[in-house]
Amino acid sequence: MAQARALVVGAGLSGSLCAALLRRALPPGALRVELWDKARGAGGRAATSRSPADPRCTADLGAQYITLSPSYAQRHRSFYDDLLAHGVLKPLTAPIKGMVMKEGALNFMTPQGTSSIAKHYLRESGADVFYERHVTQIYLRDGKWEVCEKAGSSELFDIVILTIPVPQILQLQGDIVSIINGSQRQQLESVSYSSRYALGLFYEAGTQIDVPWAAQYITNNPCIRFISIDNKKRNIEPSEVGPSVVVHTSVPFGIEYLEWDREKVQQLILEQLEIVMPDLPKPINIKCQKWRYSQVTTPVPSCPGQMTLHISPSLICGGDAFTHSNFDGCIESAMCIVEAIKCNL
Ligand SMILES: Cc1cc2nc3c(=O)[nH]c(=O)nc-3n(C[C@H](O)[C@H](O)[C@H](O)COP(=O)(O)OP(=O)(O)OC[C@H]3O[C@@H](n4cnc5c(N)ncnc54)[C@H](O)[C@@H]3O)c2cc1C
Repeated sequence: MAQARALVVGAGLSGSLCAALLRRALPPGALRVELWDKARGAGGRAATSRSPADPRCTADLGAQYITLSPSYAQRHRSFYDDLLAHGVLKPLTAPIKGMVMKEGALNFMTPQGTSSIAKHYLRESGADVFYERHVTQIYLRDGKWEVCEKAGSSELFDIVILTIPVPQILQLQGDIVSIINGSQRQQLESVSYSSRYALGLFYEAGTQIDVPWAAQYITNNPCIRFISIDNKKRNIEPSEVGPSVVVHTSVPFGIEYLEWDREKVQQLILEQLEIVMPDLPKPINIKCQKWRYSQVTTPVPSCPGQMTLHISPSLICGGDAFTHSNFDGCIESAMCIVEAIKCNL
C-alpha cells in the first residue's frame, strides 16, 4: 500500500508542533508529512525578523516571551524541558517593567528568537516544508483531498490539518465551504482577534541604548503598548552585532489604522516613539508588520483544541483560536489534533 500523505497548513507554533507530534505518535514510515506556509519562513505570529543590513541582528515581531502557566505545569512540562535541553528556551531573567507576574508562572525567552521554536519542531518532524505556498481551495476527490495553492498547482493528500487563523480558514474555497456544517460555521464565525502593529528597529553595531530595562509595558500612550530592547531581552550584549528594538502598538491604535498605508502608520508610530523615548538613536533599518489577526479575543466556544470538519479522509483545523493565544494554547491544540488523527486512522 502507498504511504499515506498528510498536509499541515501553517508553519507557526501549532503547525510545526503538530508535525513533530505526528512523528512521535505514529510508527516510522506510517505517514509522509508535508507542511505548507504562505510566508517565506517559519514562525507565523511567533516570527523573528532579520535586519537587511546584518542577518545576525534580529527582532521578535510577534510573540515576545513564553510563559508556562501553573495550570499547565504538569501537562506541558516535557515540552519545556525538551526546549530548555536544546537551548531553544532559557529562563527570562532580564527586567520587564510593568509585567504582571502570575503566581507560579515561569517565563522563558528564546536566545535565537521566537521563530526558533517552530524551526526546532520542523527539524524534529522530518516533514518536507514548503514556503510561499498559499492554500486557496480544498476539494474532495475520490477519497482524498485536493489542495490547491495560489500559484496554480494542486496536490492530493489523505489527511489535511489547517492551523491557520480562523478567518483565513473561512476564506478557503472549494468543497470545504459545504463540508463545514452550519453549527461549525457558526462557531468559527464567532471567533475574534485583536489587531496591532509591530515595528522592528535595527541598529548599527556599537549603538548604545541606555535604559534600565529590557522591555516595558507602556500604559500612558495612545499608540504604543510595549517596547523591547530585543537583544537585551535575550541577554545578548551587542558586540559586532547591533542592537534591535521592537515596538508593539496598542489594540485600539491597531484597529483604528488597520486599513491605512503602512508607511503612514510607521511614521505615526515613530512620532509617538520619539515622545516615549526621546533619546533613542536612529535605526538603520525599520520593518513595519501589521498583525491583522494578533491575539485571539474570543476563541471557539468551549475551547475544544481542534475541530474535525471531515472524518474520512480527515480534515481537521486547530491552532490558538481553538484554545488560547499563547504557546501553551498551541501545545494544547497540537496535542488535540494528533489525538483526533490517531482516532481516525
Ligand atoms: C504581537 C503579538 C504578541 C504576542 N505575544 C505573545 C507572547 O509574548 N507569548 C506567547 O506565548 N504568545 C504571544 N502571542 C501569541 C502567539 O504568537 C500565537 O498564539 C501563536 O504564535 C499562534 O500560533 P499558530 O501556529 O496557532 O498560528 P500562526 O502563528 O498564525 O500560524 C499560522 C501560519 O499559517 C500561515 N497561513 C495562513 N493562511 C495560510 C494559507 N491560506 N496557506 C498557507 N499558509 C497560511 C501563516 O503564514 C502562518 O505562518 C503574540 C502574538 C502577537 C501577534
